[in-house]
Amino acid sequence: MAGLGLARAVRSRDAECPITLITADSGDDYAKPLLSSAFAKRQTPDALVMRDAVGVAEALRAQVRIHTPVEAIDTLNRRLRIGAEQLPYDQLVLATGAAPWQPFAIDSLLRDRVFQINDLDDYRRFRATLDRHPGQQARIAIIGAGLVGCEFANDLHSGGHRIALIAPEATPLPRLLPPPLGQALAEAFDGAGIRGYFERSVAALGDNDGEVVITLDDGDRLEADLVLIATGLQPRTALAEAAGLAVSPAGILTDRYLATSEANIHALGDVACVDGLNAPGNGLSAMYVQPLQASAKALAATLTGTPTPVRYGAWPVMVKTPLLPVAALPPRQTPARWRIEGEAGDFSAFAEDETGRLLGFALTGRCVRRKVELARAAPPLLG
Ligand SMILES: Cc1cc2nc3c(=O)[nH]c(=O)nc-3n(C[C@H](O)[C@H](O)[C@H](O)COP(=O)(O)OP(=O)(O)OC[C@H]3O[C@@H](n4cnc5c(N)ncnc54)[C@H](O)[C@@H]3O)c2cc1C
Repeated sequence: MAGLGLARAVRSRDAECPITLITADSGDDYAKPLLSSAFAKRQTPDALVMRDAVGVAEALRAQVRIHTPVEAIDTLNRRLRIGAEQLPYDQLVLATGAAPWQPFAIDSLLRDRVFQINDLDDYRRFRATLDRHPGQQARIAIIGAGLVGCEFANDLHSGGHRIALIAPEATPLPRLLPPPLGQALAEAFDGAGIRGYFERSVAALGDNDGEVVITLDDGDRLEADLVLIATGLQPRTALAEAAGLAVSPAGILTDRYLATSEANIHALGDVACVDGLNAPGNGLSAMYVQPLQASAKALAATLTGTPTPVRYGAWPVMVKTPLLPVAALPPRQTPARWRIEGEAGDFSAFAEDETGRLLGFALTGRCVRRKVELARAAPPLLG
C-alpha cells in the first residue's frame, strides 16, 4: 500500500521520472484492510483487486516487477541484488511492510490448516481451504485478539462459522482499549456465540485425524478445522539492516523527511519508524493506512524537489467489529489515568495527563460517533 501510494503521488507530480515498483507478491492493487471484512460481504479475494500489476504499470507508466524478492542492497554502488541481476537506482524507497510474528513452530503436517493472513495471496490460500470445507460451518480457532484477530473473528462469525478466540491478555484489543471497554467487546462477542479463551496461551498445535488439536497452557484442549494465527506483526527490516541502515525493533529509523541513515534511501509504511513513532510491540503503533498515506504524499514532494516533513494527525483507528463498533486513538505517552463514562457497551474512555489534558481516547458502541469531535481535541500523533 505504501509503495503504490508513493508511486501514485510521485506520478501525479512528475509525469516523466522513471519509476520501478518491485514486489515479492502478486502486485495486485487492493486495500489490505478489506481482507478482514470480505467474508461476511461474500466478496471473493479476486473481487478485492482494484487493478492487477499490468493495470498498475499502465496507469502509473511504471515498471512493475512481481514475485521478485530483492535480496540485497549495495549502498556503495547504488544497486539492488535480485538473483543474478544487479539493478541500479538513483533513489531507493523501502516499503517492505511488516511480517506476521509466529509465536511457535508449526508442524508441516498442519500447514494446509494453519494460516497467517497478511496479504491477498495469504487470503487467497485461506479462502480456497475454507471454501472447500464440507458443510456450512467450519470450526475456526483464532489465536490473538488484536485488531486483525478481532476483525476476522467478527467477519467469519458473521459469515456463519464457529469461532474460538484465544489470547494471553484478559480482554480483546489490549493495545487499543482499556480493560472495561475490552470487556464490553468480549461480552458482545460472547453474546453472539464467539467463544473467548482469554488469559490463555497456546502450548501446542497437533493433528488428530484431520482436526487441529489446540492445547492451551492450562491443559485445556480444543479442536478446530482451521486455525488463524494473528499474533502481531514485525517490521521487515532485514534487507535494510544487512545493508547497514540504522534500524530498531520498531522499524527502519527515519527522520520526518522519511530519510534513513543512508543517503538516497527513504522508508515509509509499516517498515518505517518515523521520528521514533511506530512501536508495534508496546501499544502505540503508526502501522495504519492514514500515516502511510500522509508519508507517501510528503515523500513524493520531497523526491520531486520540494523537501516536505511528514505530519501525522490525531487519526483514530476504526476497528471493523460490527458486533460492537470500536474507535480508538491510543495515547502517545502513558496517561496518568483513563476516565471512563458509559454503560451497556456504549463507552467513552479518555486518556488524560495529570492536568486533565486529553492525550487519546477509546470509544465503543454508539459512542463511536464522538470520534471526530474528540480527534479535534487530541494532540496530533506527529505534530
Ligand atoms: C487483516 C488486516 C486488516 C487491517 N485493517 C486495517 C484498518 O482497518 N485500518 C488501518 O489503518 N490499517 C489496517 N491494517 C494495516 C494496514 O493494512 C497496513 O498498515 C498497510 O497495509 C501497510 O502497508 P505497507 O505498504 O507498509 O506494507 P504491505 O502492504 O505489507 O506491503 C509490503 C510490500 O513489500 C513487499 N516486500 C517485502 N519484502 C520484500 C523484498 N525483499 N523484496 C521485494 N518486495 C518485498 C511485499 O511483497 C509487499 O508487496 C490491516 C492489516 C491487516 C493485515
